[in-house]
Amino acid sequence: MYEDLKQKLIDAGRVLYSEGLGDYVAGHVSLRLPDNPGRFLMKPAGIGLEEMNQNNIITVDLDGMKVEGVSNRHNEVFIHSEILRARPDVNSVVHAHPLHTVAFSTLGKELRAVGNDATVFHGGVPVFSETTDLITTKERGKALAETLGKRPVAILRNHGIAATGASVQESVWMSLKIERACQMQLLAENAGGPKLFVKDEDVADKQKKSLRQDLYDNAFDYALRKFRRTYCACCLDKEDVVAPSTFKASPGG
Ligand SMILES: [Zn+2]
Repeated sequence: MYEDLKQKLIDAGRVLYSEGLGDYVAGHVSLRLPDNPGRFLMKPAGIGLEEMNQNNIITVDLDGMKVEGVSNRHNEVFIHSEILRARPDVNSVVHAHPLHTVAFSTLGKELRAVGNDATVFHGGVPVFSETTDLITTKERGKALAETLGKRPVAILRNHGIAATGASVQESVWMSLKIERACQMQLLAENAGGPKLFVKDEDVADKQKKSLRQDLYDNAFDYALRKFRRTYCACCLDKEDVVAPSTFKASPGG
């Protein structure tokens, strides 16, 4: 059941991994069921982002309870359940620990329009700083959703990101773009600090050009083709690459 949706989630994990957003078995992505909006598909704990398959993806409800699947649920499930509860316009959430974004979050600086990527986030990137620990309770998930508000991405200080989208392609795009934007500003900060920025009159136009579903789709499909060219084709799509029975009991981050 839901084979096409699961395939989208599998592909999202492969793209996030191959674009450098993996953190061993940490990090996860979810996708709301269109015919049952109180439930969503999610990557299970204990495996890498690129190791999802049709058998190990789990189904979870908005209370964070697993309702289907044999694999373990991430203990940070509440990032997804509470954002999906608070935001009916959001159908997909990515939580990752991207290196440059986390490093950038330690500067306590605002993201500036240093290049194209940062203009995606014109209007601000909220920073969740109530805790730097993992989001393992409903209350913390709710607080994060409140910090996120109507924005596409929140940075979790000293921890990672919560990126959202109406589609899985959009949440992946937001994840990749926040990481590039933070990386670019870090480079400039390291070279004495940025002195010139995208012109005020250009920011809104550039942002508009970056917020299009066709762009999210094309970038996602391109990154997926790149993944397939890079990794061993005979290992892909084998449903027994990671059998659920091989998972350890740990729920993971
Ligand atoms: Zn985390």
